[in-house]
Amino acid sequence: MDRLGHYTVKSAHSLIQKREITEVAEEVSVYWKRLWKLSIPPKVKSFLWQASTNCLPTKCNLQLKGISVNDLCPFCNSCRESTSHVLFSCSFSQVCWNLLGVQIDPDDLGVFADRFAKLLDSIHADNLLHIPMLCWALWKSRNELIWNQKGAEASEIVTLARITLEQWKNAQDRSFDLSLGFAQISDGAANWQPPSPGSLLEAKASCVGGLVEPVFSEALGIREALSWIKTKDWHNVEVESDSLVSIQAIRSSTVFLSYFGKIVQECRQLLLDLICHEVSIKFVKRSANAVAISDRIVFGSAIPPDMNCVLLNDLLV
Ligand SMILES: [Zn+2]
Repeated sequence: MDRLGHYTVKSAHSLIQKREITEVAEEVSVYWKRLWKLSIPPKVKSFLWQASTNCLPTKCNLQLKGISVNDLCPFCNSCRESTSHVLFSCSFSQVCWNLLGVQIDPDDLGVFADRFAKLLDSIHADNLLHIPMLCWALWKSRNELIWNQKGAEASEIVTLARITLEQWKNAQDRSFDLSLGFAQISDGAANWQPPSPGSLLEAKASCVGGLVEPVFSEALGIREALSWIKTKDWHNVEVESDSLVSIQAIRSSTVFLSYFGKIVQECRQLLLDLICHEVSIKFVKRSANAVAISDRIVFGSAIPPDMNCVLLNDLLV
């Protein structure tokens, strides 16, 4: 009886274990299905996959692999940098989550995947996609801080998360129905439109040394164009850029405490100075901006041969 009882208990135990394994497998499968279904950029899904499987090169993970690094979180410099800490528990990350209007329990000791799943369950549908986007933006900012010593304000990280999602959604939408408030009806042209007959057409491109983010150089370009318009005292001018982030940042009232923010602020000031000159900025798709490729000034008929095909394309459409 004892022997039989022992076997019964043992087999019941393995049954329970089997059921637990099946339940966990189902939970895992539901988690991945849900993650793959999210309408977010593929690069963010790829990032989430790394975070969920604890494959991000956090300092804790690097130490586990025998790499000699200090394990302190680069944001707060006071806690060990695990995935769960840097994306959720860190005091700096908490400020970002608060700005997004999402409550995170800083004392939750769960792993990333558990906390992420809990968040998706608790959040209102309107804000749901911002959860993975902010995780991604936090990790991107963490890398910028570690590798390029570039710090960002919490508000910039939240803006990066929001704008990246909006840009991606717009890119998916063939009708290009911009839903962001900073967009205007004239935005989104796919082909360059010539100015009305009789308008002065002058183009300028310049090369500035240095290694900067594309969005920064785009904002710099807009500032240069506005400054040029001001110097020449031109009226009724449209400045076109294929950088939606720069255009949206200039049109918004968000204060960005960074070099990018400084350029944005200067652009806003120049637009204010030119308020009586009827100068506007406009977003066009990259295909409409094909001639802006290198360092040159073009007047009238002096068209460099390598620009012929792109100009011809613009003129044919
Ligand atoms: Zn931290």
